[in-house]
Amino acid sequence: MSASNSLAHADITTLLHPYTDARAHEAKGPIVIDRGKGIYVYDDSGKEYIEGLAGLWSVAVGFDEPRLVEAAARQMAKLPYYHTFSSKSHEPSIRLAEKLVEMTPENLTRVFFTSSGSEANDTVVKMVWYMNNALGRPRKKTFLARTKAYHGITVASGSLTGLPNNHRDFDLPAIPVRHLTCPHFYRFGLPGESEAAFTARLVAEAEQVILEEGPETIAAFIGEPLMAAGGVLPPPEGYWQGIEALCRKYDILLVADEVINGFGRLGSSFGCVHYGFTPDILVASKQITSSYMPLAAIVFSEAIYNAIADNTARIGTFGHGFTASGHPVATAVGLENLAIIEEKDLVGNAARVGAVLQRELARFADHPLVGEVRGAGLIAALELVSDKATKAPFAPIGKVGAAAYAAGHANGLIVRAIGDTVALCPPLVITESQVLELVARLGRTLDDVAAQLPDLQLG
Ligand code: PMP
Repeated sequence: MSASNSLAHADITTLLHPYTDARAHEAKGPIVIDRGKGIYVYDDSGKEYIEGLAGLWSVAVGFDEPRLVEAAARQMAKLPYYHTFSSKSHEPSIRLAEKLVEMTPENLTRVFFTSSGSEANDTVVKMVWYMNNALGRPRKKTFLARTKAYHGITVASGSLTGLPNNHRDFDLPAIPVRHLTCPHFYRFGLPGESEAAFTARLVAEAEQVILEEGPETIAAFIGEPLMAAGGVLPPPEGYWQGIEALCRKYDILLVADEVINGFGRLGSSFGCVHYGFTPDILVASKQITSSYMPLAAIVFSEAIYNAIADNTARIGTFGHGFTASGHPVATAVGLENLAIIEEKDLVGNAARVGAVLQRELARFADHPLVGEVRGAGLIAALELVSDKATKAPFAPIGKVGAAAYAAGHANGLIVRAIGDTVALCPPLVITESQVLELVARLGRTLDDVAAQLPDLQLG
């Protein structure tokens, strides 16, 4: 047995993979990714792929940045681990917290670190509950989220997520949450409805839910400025202004989940800046370290901090925190990664090269499979449909997307298939000529899928 075959065998006999059909995987085996260079990764047979999803929407600086390796090695050698419990601290955590406060909107002044986006959103839920208990309003606990939202998979964050696969058979949601209509005009706009009327309808729906539940029970509204894992769904014009006004009117905290949007993905520093609203809490992860190390940060307002801090003074502690909260190697890598994003102006690159990506993808609107092309900066998607005029999806949903995912691999392009939506989110270091290569591979992929349609046994 070759090394690679024995690896595959060990994989299918030992690992349970996230987001994978385990029985299909046992039959098919893994694609073992072996190394990376820039926007490319290579499997263990040496095949090259453009990583069109930057790993999991996360590797801003590319797959071989030596400065991050050196930053990790330096910190490993000096202080490989220390915690931040009970007043202990260390320089990388302090400096990164300072940097995040400087980079994010002015009202956000305090930072709490976790290792993952899910842990961060669980922490947001607990912080908000803790704050409202401290403020003597113990009924103010319900979160508003949206269908198709992705906020993670732990018990609380998975409850905020609005995707059936994350709830079904996991007994979620398990916290008080109301999921509002997904703000995707193409799919959820009514026939004849204008985009402005769609926005107004969604904001009115949110207000109706607030009044139905009672504003004294609604703690926070959480949303990704641009919903990513749910299908790359830019909000309709005016949506965030409407939601922000409701939050202010009913004393509801506004939480921007910037785990994918943050650090330049949309061609602006943060998604909330891109769409012009001011959250009380901003959640960041993924591109904070380019995912070279696991890290997430909650950046929040002084008012929230004060409510929490006053309560810790009453009871003597804040009973929340992870062994790896602010891990020194992760935060050192984060600092260096954010320095690279600044020095190379990767936010500007996402705006400039992102405009080329969006322009080139817009041409696929004429492709017979493509119902909608959408995105912002360096994140985009093509929704594949069976009938462009009626927007009718393929039946069953997912087969054509899976075919596109596989055809992408055959053409040297890794994409994400979300149902029948093909999502792209390449590393922020991508160049204009690499975007053209990505688009060429995508074009071949779509043509291959179109040719396979008769064999896909669609309804
Ligand atoms: N929020 C958003 C917007 C995400 O996209 C993700 C992960 N894709 C998460 C939270 C959860 O992050 P993690 O997988 O690190 O737990």
